[in-house]
Amino acid sequence: MSQAEKLSVIGEWTDATNLQKFYINGEWIEPISKEILSVINPATGEELAKVASANAQDAERAIHAARSAFDKGQWRTMSAHERANMLMELAAKIEEHQEELAEIETANNGKTLREAQADVAEAAKTFRYYAGLATKPSGETFETDEPLVSRVVREPIGVCGQIIPWNYPLLMAAWKLAPALAAGNTCILKPSELTPLTAIRLFELIDEIDFPKGVVNLINGTGPDAGQPLVTSSLVDKIAFTGGTVTGKRIMKEAVGNLKKVSLELGGKSPNIIFADADYENALDYAAFAIFNNSGQVCSAGSRLLVERKIYDRFTSDLAEATKKIRVGNGADPSSQMGPVISKQHMEKIERYIAVGKQEKATLLCGGRRLLDQGREYGYFIEPTIFIDVDPQATIAREEIFGPVLCVIPFDTEEEALEIANDSPYGLAAGIFTSNTAKAERMAKYIRAGVTWINTYEQNLVEGPWGGYKESGIGRELGTYGFDEYTEVKQIINTLKVEPTGWFAD
Ligand code: NDP
Repeated sequence: MSQAEKLSVIGEWTDATNLQKFYINGEWIEPISKEILSVINPATGEELAKVASANAQDAERAIHAARSAFDKGQWRTMSAHERANMLMELAAKIEEHQEELAEIETANNGKTLREAQADVAEAAKTFRYYAGLATKPSGETFETDEPLVSRVVREPIGVCGQIIPWNYPLLMAAWKLAPALAAGNTCILKPSELTPLTAIRLFELIDEIDFPKGVVNLINGTGPDAGQPLVTSSLVDKIAFTGGTVTGKRIMKEAVGNLKKVSLELGGKSPNIIFADADYENALDYAAFAIFNNSGQVCSAGSRLLVERKIYDRFTSDLAEATKKIRVGNGADPSSQMGPVISKQHMEKIERYIAVGKQEKATLLCGGRRLLDQGREYGYFIEPTIFIDVDPQATIAREEIFGPVLCVIPFDTEEEALEIANDSPYGLAAGIFTSNTAKAERMAKYIRAGVTWINTYEQNLVEGPWGGYKESGIGRELGTYGFDEYTEVKQIINTLKVEPTGWFAD
């Protein structure tokens, strides 16, 4: 199949030539590197496209463009209204192309079309939200007992390197670019080498808007070749990263050269706690949704399910029944409810965890195998898997599997549930299902996680802060908190009485 034919399968992509270019300084340019990445459809194992892969020199070009646009360009001095208008325009373009973007996302990431459509809608909403925020009042003033008045203002940080993962490629691009641009920064986006396609399409839409040259740049490539130069460059003022905790820690160490600002959104092993007094059907529905949506490849996945012993047997048995009915298949098929995992390598990692779970004597209640029929043998499909009676200290209960594998742990009391929930190096999210509001509030107060849902799960709000405690990261995305992460705080002190100090007069 020719390149053009393959692309017509994944959407009406008009300018496929940009796949092997980077968007730097307001134009699609030929890379210096001759390396090429093969982009695979995880549902079929087939190559979807060939994409240029940047080296350090390509990254340097992007860094210089963003640096010059920030230092000498008009972006940060432009009125917030003008910046907001461009972001609004981008939101409208994303909506105009939502079907095409969703199709590309499904083909490249594997997620179902329904999931991809939701991501595209959220991406547009994110740009619109931050466009709105750009023009809202900010800062503060205060008076002192001196004849002075102080004004606190927020200013853009400068050049932002933004490194994003493969589980929500377009949405993560929006979460990174929208607040950074709204605040007046210039950006270099580096998508995951596994999922570069929607970012390329997004930048084609960006190119249709009059962003000043160099404000927003895109390079594709591997972490070490294209990502690392952004992390180590003294010309980059901030790194925003979403991905695995191991890579996040490494980035933090390597960013130390110029003490750049670092925000990290990392992994999790989030507890989802079901009390016996919960609305049973609601809790059952969310227990499955929390772990199997996006094939479990979600940083906040409810991957540790804590179930009160009084309902443990019934709940786990009903959950297994519901799980066996999940239709696993190519995300492009509208009847599929769960797609493949991202890559062969990742599938094998998940299979290793399943083997470890068995060795650790957890009971495999359902799933546990790769799916090898109906064409699924060519892709990377894993059955939705549930282990019950998992020891909270077991490897599968402590390490992030990042796949459709649920660990169920029984508990007897509220105190025990809290202890198990907090006994993790991570602290991204938690779920609490109970009809007792006081109990829910107590749990929410003492759980050490950045986001806690009560009687729901995985409802993300662009208006609210998103990020983790402990090894789940540093900083917050979304809401006003996410905007603030892209600003420096400046205090401007003015005097009400212009007179010399007289300090050295005597
Ligand atoms: P990584 O954390 O390695 O990748 C995330 C991003 O960082 C990608 O763009 C990657 O590029 C880039 N990167 C990798 N190494 C470097 C580096 N040295 N310097 C700069 N950038 C770098 O995730 P993986 O894909 O390797 O997944 C590993 C595990 O991380 C998963 O199994 C899962 O547990 C977790 N994860 C968590 C996510 C989350 O949302 N919190 C998202 C994705 C993964 P490249 O694509 O080339 O590797």
